[in-house]
Amino acid sequence: KNNNKNKQFAVIGLGRFGTSVATTLFKLGYDVLAIDVNEEQVQKISETVTHVVQADTTDENSLKALGIRNYDVVIVAVGSDIQANVLTTLLLKELGIKYIVAKAINELHGKMLAKIGADRVVYPERDMGLRVAHSLVSTNVLEYIELSPDLSVAEITAPKILVGHSLAETNLRVKYELNVVAIKRNEVLLVPPPSDEKIKAGDILILVGQTKGIQKLEELE
Ligand code: ADP
Repeated sequence: KNNNKNKQFAVIGLGRFGTSVATTLFKLGYDVLAIDVNEEQVQKISETVTHVVQADTTDENSLKALGIRNYDVVIVAVGSDIQANVLTTLLLKELGIKYIVAKAINELHGKMLAKIGADRVVYPERDMGLRVAHSLVSTNVLEYIELSPDLSVAEITAPKILVGHSLAETNLRVKYELNVVAIKRNEVLLVPPPSDEKIKAGDILILVGQTKGIQKLEELE
């Protein structure tokens, strides 16, 4: 039995992002409280989470009345209204919530949330934009996650030019400052991949390393 399933989540702001987070957590078997100031949003989600409440989370008393302190993780998914987003995060912090995840719409907003004490700041639009852009410029790119401006993780179909060569021969570590952490071949995952392993057509390389290196690799056919 997975004891983590006892973890309780609250999601504030049921726009597209908040709704997706809330319903996914619920589908994964967690207890989810969903909150929105807008009655219409609350109605829409009522069947797909554990509890729903209509409340304005920028109001300290409403927030307290929700029993939000009983939740292990609170996700602030209020989007375009920066003031409501920041104020909600601040109040949650003051109430002593253990883990606060807050959605930022830009870097400055994100900095502010971190200063207030959000434990994790997410940038869903920026991250999705990055992924979509990378998968558009190179048909080889299946998944792309930026860990920091310089460091990324990518899942790339092995470019033809590498097929038939071992990882040692391709020398990606020196040429592109990239580490192949795994090779996906059909349903099999080679982790870590042996350095004498020859790359086959259709292999998927999972790489960690310099964003620049990944960009160069994306350009290979
Ligand atoms: P997305 O871009 O993910 O669709 P939106 O900004 O459109 O996000 O939606 C955010 C949600 O947050 C809306 O449903 C809105 O009603 C809700 N919201 C805004 N302010 C508050 C608040 N003070 N308390 C609770 N919910 C709020």
